[in-house]
Amino acid sequence: MLEALSRHSYDFAFSLTNTAGCAARIAQEMPRAIAERYVPAMLKGERFGGSALSEPDAGSDFAGIKTHAAKDGDDWILNGAKAWITNAAFGDVFITCAQTDPAQGWRGIASFLVDGRREGFARSLAEALAGGGVIGAGGFTLKNYRVHADEVVSTPGQAFRRAMAGVNQARTYVAAMCCAMVDVCLETAIAYGKERQAFGGPLAAKQGWRWMAADIATDVEAGRLLVAKAADLIARGEDAALASAHAKKFATRMAIGRISDACQLMGAAGLREEYPFLRHLASARVANYTDGSTEMQNERIAAILVG
Ligand SMILES: Cc1cc2nc3c(=O)[nH]c(=O)nc-3n(C[C@H](O)[C@H](O)[C@H](O)COP(=O)(O)OP(=O)(O)OC[C@H]3O[C@@H](n4cnc5c(N)ncnc54)[C@H](O)[C@@H]3O)c2cc1C
Repeated sequence: MLEALSRHSYDFAFSLTNTAGCAARIAQEMPRAIAERYVPAMLKGERFGGSALSEPDAGSDFAGIKTHAAKDGDDWILNGAKAWITNAAFGDVFITCAQTDPAQGWRGIASFLVDGRREGFARSLAEALAGGGVIGAGGFTLKNYRVHADEVVSTPGQAFRRAMAGVNQARTYVAAMCCAMVDVCLETAIAYGKERQAFGGPLAAKQGWRWMAADIATDVEAGRLLVAKAADLIARGEDAALASAHAKKFATRMAIGRISDACQLMGAAGLREEYPFLRHLASARVANYTDGSTEMQNERIAAILVG
C-alpha cells in the first residue's frame, strides 16, 4: 500500500504511516481505555501522530536526547524540546522518548504518550522545507507536561530497545517507497522517450538512452529483492536488523541517483511540475535521513559484520 501511494506522494505515504504506526503501538501496547481514546480518531483521520525521538541537539545520536522525565508520585513530569518530528506541524499524539536518568545513557530512556491538547505542550513553527513539506516535520516543547502512570509506553531500559526493534520495519517501508518512486519515474521517462523524436527517430530507440533505462530497471529490481528479504524476515518474526539496513541504504542512495538519471532521460521536460522527478528527488533526500541516516545504516551493518 505504501508503495502504491509513494508513486504519487512519498511524503503523504510517510505521514500516513507515522500516524498508523503510532496508532498501532497504542492499540497493542497500552491499556484499552487509552486505546479507545485515541485509536478510532487516528484511524478516521481526525488526529495525527508519530514518534518523537529527535531533538534540536540530538539526531543520529539518539542516546544523547535531553528531554527529561522526572517521577512525581505515580506520574511523570516531562520537560524539553523535540525537533524534526513527522506530523508535528498538525498532529498531536506522539510517543515521546525522554531521559529519566542521564547517568544511565540509553538505559535511562523511557517513552511516554504525549497529547498535544493538554497543558504543557506547545507546538513550534513547522520546518519550512524546499521539498517534503507534506510530511509536516516540526517540533514541540514540553514544559512541566504531566504523564499519568498508565500513559507510560516503554519503561526505562525498554524504550531504546523497542525503538531499535521497530526501526527495522520502518527502514523496510522507506526502502520499498524509494523503489516505487524510481519505478514511476522510469515508467514516465519510457512513455516520453517513445513519443519524443530526435535524430530521425524516437529517443527510446537510441542505444545510450535505452541502456540508461535498463540500468535504472536493474537497480529497482535489486532494491525490491532487498526489500522482499527484509519484509520476509519481519513477517516470520526473525531478526531483520541487517537485511533492513542493507535495503534502506541501497534503496535510498539508489533513488537519489536513479531518479536524477530518469529525469535526464526526459531532457528539460523532466523539470516540469506535471512530472514527478523533482518532487520525488526531494523525497528521496528526506529518505536518506529518516529512520536512521545512510551512515547509521553503515554503522549498523558494520557492527553486525565486524562487531
Ligand atoms: C522530513 C523528516 C522527518 C523526520 N521525522 C522524524 C520523526 O518522526 N521522529 C524523529 O524522532 N525524527 C525524525 N526525523 C529526524 C531524523 O531521524 C534525523 O534527521 C536523523 O536521525 C539524522 O539526525 P540529524 O539530522 O540531526 O543529523 P546529525 O545526527 O546531526 O548528522 C549529520 C550528518 O552526519 C552523519 N553522522 C552523524 N553521526 C555520524 C557518525 N558517527 N559517523 C558517520 N556519520 C555520522 C549523519 O548520518 C548525517 O549525514 C525526521 C527528519 C526529516 C528530515
